[in-house]
Amino acid sequence: MPEATDEKTVAYEPTHPQATLNDEGFWGDEKGALLAVSASDLERYTYCPLSWSLATRGHAGKGKEIVQGQENHKEIHRVYSEYQMLRVQTKRNLIIWQWWYAIILVLVIDIFLFRGIDASEFSTVEISKLLVTWAISCLVVGIGALFLPWRQLVGMEITPRPSYQFGGEQQEFVEPYFEPRGFEGGWFEGGRIEVAFFMAAIVLVIHSLALRFASNREQATYVLTVVAIGWTLIATVQLQRALIANSKSLSIAADNDIQIGTEIAYSDDEKGSGLLMDNSIGLRGRPDQIVIIDGEFIPVEQKTGRVPKKPHDSHSMQVLAYAHLIEATTGRSPPYGMLRYGEENLHIVNWNDDAKSQLIEAIQTIQGVMANGGAKRNHNRPGKCKNCSRRYACPDPLTQ
Ligand code: SF4
Repeated sequence: MPEATDEKTVAYEPTHPQATLNDEGFWGDEKGALLAVSASDLERYTYCPLSWSLATRGHAGKGKEIVQGQENHKEIHRVYSEYQMLRVQTKRNLIIWQWWYAIILVLVIDIFLFRGIDASEFSTVEISKLLVTWAISCLVVGIGALFLPWRQLVGMEITPRPSYQFGGEQQEFVEPYFEPRGFEGGWFEGGRIEVAFFMAAIVLVIHSLALRFASNREQATYVLTVVAIGWTLIATVQLQRALIANSKSLSIAADNDIQIGTEIAYSDDEKGSGLLMDNSIGLRGRPDQIVIIDGEFIPVEQKTGRVPKKPHDSHSMQVLAYAHLIEATTGRSPPYGMLRYGEENLHIVNWNDDAKSQLIEAIQTIQGVMANGGAKRNHNRPGKCKNCSRRYACPDPLTQ
């Protein structure tokens, strides 16, 4: 670390004196890469340019609040990760339960069929033929649906679903295997409905064969009843697992003021994954969380410590940076970002044209100071300096 006097001088000096200005108003280095500005840079610079300058020179924030904040962020990440894991477990167990429940229904229908078939006026051969006819009909309809873009023709409403995965492997969605949300179908594309027709065709053919060849109906009925009871018990365990996971996730949501049904697309574990970048303006950053609300990716910035009366401009600027990064990386523009102070103080930061201009201006200003130097205190509030975590290295504090 430099001598104290040096620290106070270099805070005003440029970090990239060789940088040049391009036609769009951004500053780049000798190789043409734009000077990198992070969301945290924007937050610090908006708070006080001197604080930002000190941070870029390695003067970390000091104080109990900083240490406590880091601990709190780890805990928030743990809570959000656990919540998301429980939601995944709930959905997965419910999907399995639904499939098993469908099998039970088929078994019960079979039991009644086998019991009553011999007493009915129809012959098993006739019913078997009828089932084969149904199977062929299902097959033909399924193939037709697979080849034609019928969803667009009938104007079926499609629920949009962003599919971008932030931060590599830590995100886990339970997507329906045959038809992910947002699936629109088209020529030669099939989804859940087509699969249902093909499955129905298979089930009908199996039943047709069983009717023709199962000579001992009473024994077949007994076996089917035992299988149905066993399957019901297993399906009940699966349902119980889903309900337990759901109950735990609801409890975590209630304790931490997480909106019911919120899906977590990403939660920052501070281990380096999930860095979002837009090299066209030099911006980068890693939001605390990205959640999915109404089919849109929404950045969430968590602030621990004192809860202010209204959101700080510096924090709002940080959220704008994340909103831009989400738009740049996913191609979907979030309508807003969220700023959370503590557990119950949630603020919306709108992402609109004004916000975009404000963000670009701030990035270009910081890049300009990196190229030309001249970071200066932007306020006359002794209280702000008193609470500043870099006051120990500041060349121009309002209080000692
Ligand atoms: S002590 Fe005051 S002037 Fe210095 S960096 Fe902090 S807020 Fe800025």
